[in-house]
Amino acid sequence: MVMKNYMEEVVVDELEGVLKSIEGACTCELCREDMVAWTLNRIEPLYVVRNLGRIYSKLEQVKYQQQASITALLTKAAKVVKDNPRH
Ligand SMILES: [Zn+2]
Repeated sequence: MVMKNYMEEVVVDELEGVLKSIEGACTCELCREDMVAWTLNRIEPLYVVRNLGRIYSKLEQVKYQQQASITALLTKAAKVVKDNPRH
């Protein structure tokens, strides 16, 4: 069974814009992963079966509904990781 957490995709999509707004945030792979993980641990997961095209529009709706709170969480995550980098 191939499942994926759709929220992961949403968070990764948002990350780029958030990183640009945080001055001095490290953008290496390790820090990016930490920011995504930190955020995903604080939102409800939304598991979907890979390549299920017909529910895509419903997912887009979820994305728009949650975008603001995800951006806020990601901004916080970026600051946490910036202050406590793992490297
Ligand atoms: Zn880094």
